[in-house]
Amino acid sequence: MVLKLQNVTKTFGDFTAVDDLSLEIPEKQMFGFLGANGAGKTTTFRMILGLMDQTGGEISWNDQHIGYDKSHLIGYLPEERGLYPKLKVEDQLVYLAKLRGMKKSESVPEIRKWLDRFKVPEYRLKKIEELSKGNQQKIQFISAVLHKPKLLILDEPFSGLDPVNVEMLKAAVVELKEGGTSIVFSSHRMEHVEQLCESLCIMHKGKPVLKGGLKDIKRSFGKKNVRIVADFDLSFLENHGQILHYRHTKEGALCQVREEKDAQILFEALQGRGFVRQFILEEPSLEEIFIEKVGEAYE
Ligand code: ATP
Repeated sequence: MVLKLQNVTKTFGDFTAVDDLSLEIPEKQMFGFLGANGAGKTTTFRMILGLMDQTGGEISWNDQHIGYDKSHLIGYLPEERGLYPKLKVEDQLVYLAKLRGMKKSESVPEIRKWLDRFKVPEYRLKKIEELSKGNQQKIQFISAVLHKPKLLILDEPFSGLDPVNVEMLKAAVVELKEGGTSIVFSSHRMEHVEQLCESLCIMHKGKPVLKGGLKDIKRSFGKKNVRIVADFDLSFLENHGQILHYRHTKEGALCQVREEKDAQILFEALQGRGFVRQFILEEPSLEEIFIEKVGEAYE
């Protein structure tokens, strides 16, 4: 089941929040939606889910419109977190699961499994308002996945969580993907997307500026980094013909080259000058690619 967006646009008055966005989100993959504040991520999610109509363009999932009849197949963690503060965790989750077509006898064992997994079984009978923000977020995540959706849309799922909880949620998301769920999540943190996603789209002021498979994006960028740590001064490399860009780092230098054989030439240039502790050929980071493409820092 492929989620397809064709020339999707959303305007609010004369302001264009999403501008001619076309995407194919493959099934059973993790797709990352990146963009700074106001880039148009949430608006795109709302249109995918049918919570808001697009001004132009088409959105389909498996060649069909996404409407309320698909609720049981879709999970959504909205950006504006919202649970009923006075309800107890389990009652709340049972209720939300019921809206997705699950009987209480089915949802309760799932709820307990997830609360155990997120190491909060003791919150089962607590009211939402008694939980910290991060723990409320975990409960809301559970509500998005309890009914085992085929398509899971997560708006900034990791924001506001401490590092331990970020890892816990990431592991859960990876497991869901391996179980066959297609996952689309937004983030303003490039490293989350680099780590988790096969494909991605970077939005910038409503427009997609970079999209496709992560590996393809990196390969087609046509540049690599060489990280060097050495016991001698590396500044002589600054004017080396094979180096596209040289940057001094705390331990040595970060050099941008075009291809592997340039790295080899660079390695040879270091010989006889002293001790080389590290010489690492790396793929460019998404951040670097973004800066080169868009001409400004990401955030
Ligand atoms: P963030 O990371 O801050 O959530 P985002 O990428 O999700 O950002 P959106 O919430 O999609 O961005 O907003 C994109 C732009 O559209 C913003 O400039 C926002 O002010 C505008 N916008 C969103 N919803 C509305 C609305 N209902 N009416 C008017 N403008 C809106």
